[in-house]
Amino acid sequence: MHDRFFQSNSHADQMPPADEHHLSDTDSHWLRQSFVWANAARLRGNRPFGAIVVASNGRILAEAFSNTQETGDRTGHAEMNAVRQLGTARLQADLVAGATLYCSAEPCAMCASAICAVGLRRVVFGLDWPRLHHIRPDLRPINLSCRDVFASAAAPMECAGPCLVDEALAVYEDSWFSADDRHST
Ligand SMILES: [Zn+2]
Repeated sequence: MHDRFFQSNSHADQMPPADEHHLSDTDSHWLRQSFVWANAARLRGNRPFGAIVVASNGRILAEAFSNTQETGDRTGHAEMNAVRQLGTARLQADLVAGATLYCSAEPCAMCASAICAVGLRRVVFGLDWPRLHHIRPDLRPINLSCRDVFASAAAPMECAGPCLVDEALAVYEDSWFSADDRHST
């Protein structure tokens, strides 16, 4: 059952539908791995966001988590950190273009732009911004969806999400937001 959190709060009908018909078993596997990285981020005192980039042949090209809290770099989002790994590895453009970035939550506009800039063409994300925004209303850096950014990209972008919504929510609800974190954005 999807959206158990929002069903219990009477918000499910206001939320975008899950996009899981696009999700293969392989996609589900790697998206869940991004949840693992999101939990790793939280355990290190960061916000719970994770990302992983996987080539079409199954090779992991990058794995990253948000490290904004431990570094003080507010651009250290999981997707940005993954994209930087792709750049510093100087990977072949066609390898990157055929890869998929999986992230535990919908990329913000900054990350979506970086995803396009590095040459990725496919993104699968877990929790979407409307759901995340409902949990954390103060956390929305730019009021622009990743699909808005992708639609402006020079090359066609494929984007699936929200996916595995219940599992994605479990990463965030009941665990992320301490009183201290609410005052540190
Ligand atoms: Zn971001």
